[in-house]
Amino acid sequence: MKCFTCDDDARAVCKFCGRAICLAHRKCHVLFLGYGKKTPSAIFDGGSNTGITVQDASWCGKCTPEHQKTY
Ligand SMILES: [Zn+2]
Ligand SMILES: [Zn+2]
Repeated sequence: MKCFTCDDDARAVCKFCGRAICLAHRKCHVLFLGYGKKTPSAIFDGGSNTGITVQDASWCGKCTPEHQKTY
């Protein structure tokens, strides 16, 4: 697979949109994964920690990840 921006061989895939990216065009973006459990006990306990954060997820720099509120 070739890089979306140039014609180099891709080394990574954007975690957000799936575009292939080479090392030179790879950028980082914080990635949030997972959702809360949304059980009654989780609400009373102040939430659950089932979601995770990846600080340097591979990003193409072309797409625009938007933060969404989850429950
Ligand atoms: Zn490239
Ligand atoms: Zn992307």
